[in-house]
Amino acid sequence: MELLKYKSHLLININEILSEWFDSIESKQVSNEEVYRFIHSVKGTSGTLQMDHLMSLAENLLNKMDTKSDNVWKREELKRFLLPLIEFTYEYENQEERTHLKSETIHHEAPLIQIIDDDPSMLMMLKETMEENNWIVMAYSNPRQAVKQYFEMQPDCLIIDLQLPNQSGFEVLKEIQEYNDKFFVPTIMISVKNDKQTRIEAYQKGADDFITKPIELDEFIVKVNRHLERKKVFEQYVLIDELTQVYNRKFLSESLPRFFQNFKRSKEPFSIGLLDIDHFKKINDTYGHLIGDKVLRDFAQYLKQNIRSLDMLYRYGGEEFIIVFPNTTSEDATSKLTQLNNDFSKNIFTFEDQSFSITFSAGVFMVTDETVEGKEAIKAADRLLYEAKRNGRARVECSQLLNTYNKEALNVSVVDDNFIIRTLVANALESLTFEHIELNIKVFEDGPSFLNSTHAHEDVNHLLILDGVMPNMDGIDVLRKVKAGKNVLRYRVIMLSGRNSKDDVKQALMLGADDYIVKPINMGDFQVRISKMLDRLN
Ligand code: GH3
Ligand code: MG
Ligand code: MG
Repeated sequence: MELLKYKSHLLININEILSEWFDSIESKQVSNEEVYRFIHSVKGTSGTLQMDHLMSLAENLLNKMDTKSDNVWKREELKRFLLPLIEFTYEYENQEERTHLKSETIHHEAPLIQIIDDDPSMLMMLKETMEENNWIVMAYSNPRQAVKQYFEMQPDCLIIDLQLPNQSGFEVLKEIQEYNDKFFVPTIMISVKNDKQTRIEAYQKGADDFITKPIELDEFIVKVNRHLERKKVFEQYVLIDELTQVYNRKFLSESLPRFFQNFKRSKEPFSIGLLDIDHFKKINDTYGHLIGDKVLRDFAQYLKQNIRSLDMLYRYGGEEFIIVFPNTTSEDATSKLTQLNNDFSKNIFTFEDQSFSITFSAGVFMVTDETVEGKEAIKAADRLLYEAKRNGRARVECSQLLNTYNKEALNVSVVDDNFIIRTLVANALESLTFEHIELNIKVFEDGPSFLNSTHAHEDVNHLLILDGVMPNMDGIDVLRKVKAGKNVLRYRVIMLSGRNSKDDVKQALMLGADDYIVKPINMGDFQVRISKMLDRLN
């Protein structure tokens, strides 16, 4: 017991020194000798207190130091140098709280669940219960925002509360179902109303399950899990995409290796084209998802009828298709796709009294090298596709030289008054890399310095990670300002909240925050969530 007291004393001391060095607005000068003495004393004390991990950590840092130098440390360099120690203090402080939470971390295959409920307490309770199960959960109290996100995020399971503001859960169900019936996204209604008529209506309108409030959490988790498992099995068996009636992505990954094996045998180069419809979102937004679906169907059928029978067509994702052209050079595949693009764009779609036509952009990668594998080839085609988008769309790019490729910028701001958290969060983000996005990360110690920065106002997409409680200006007020600003559509906001700031979270969700994360943050989980979110956004 005594030992425990001294341990926490040591941690408090470490924290005090670190915040003295890093938390002050004006840069403090820290000499090499001070740093050395500090780490040295941490090593001594932690050894005495049998904190072996901390001791070896301090020892490592000492070994890395140049003891002869009498230089003064630059703040950023020092922070980087002491990062292991900063990480340790954060982990240690939150260790106790964390043992009450889950021990595993989430992984990339974790299911993505979307939940819509206007009662924030319910919303948060369900979100947090499911997250303990290592699922990724996006919570919405605003049905409009939720429907919009549904189409973008393509969740694995959807949970809708029947009683929503301005709109009944059935309406949301209907809107989503028009799109959903081509897919298999388990949809669960939750409701305080539990009469037979309501239940029948829910099932008739396409709900897969109906759960009444008050919810038995353990039963709820088992049910959702069953739905997720069945979705997986279902997907494994189905090789044809329901909507477009062409091969699906699952079959792509099963059949693609065969082309590579053939190439090794025959040495005949083949090409992979990745196609993406231009401004497809606009079609959905202007004419609705049903018309969007029709465009996808027509486009897929058009392609199918106008390629050779040995060419293989797959739906790769939403409005993205892959064509594998056996025995074809990238030049030939490119001219074929260019011709398809020209011809298909002459096709006029009509909707009520409006008409429109569509184009696509494509990247073509030719396989001429035995060491290249499926994934890499698709990645390469994807980069070329982005090149085509960047060069004005409605065009096809092909090249094996990919080095000049530019990524799209995403500004990321971490606003938190606690330097440990902002340092660790920024550090977790820095180690993420994306195919299409270049993260431009900045940290801010309060709301005003963020709001007044040029970073906040640049005309690029922005991911804002915002602490709820801060001096000078609360996170909620910062969120309100961002939501009222002219760049609002560029922003995605994730709130950081303490276990006990439920009211802040409620308010943030109602103001339109996209998600929230409860502290203490598990940095591994945080990385997975963010990368999953950004992967889906590209
Ligand atoms: P860009 O020219 O840059 O490709 O613009 P875009 O609008 O095509 O942007 P993005 O590729 O991100 O948008 C694709 C949209 O396709 C997002 C999603 O709502 C929609 N979508 C995905 N799958 C389906 C579907 O099965 N049916 C309908 N109607 N829409 C879909
Ligand atoms: Mg796309
Ligand atoms: Mg597109």
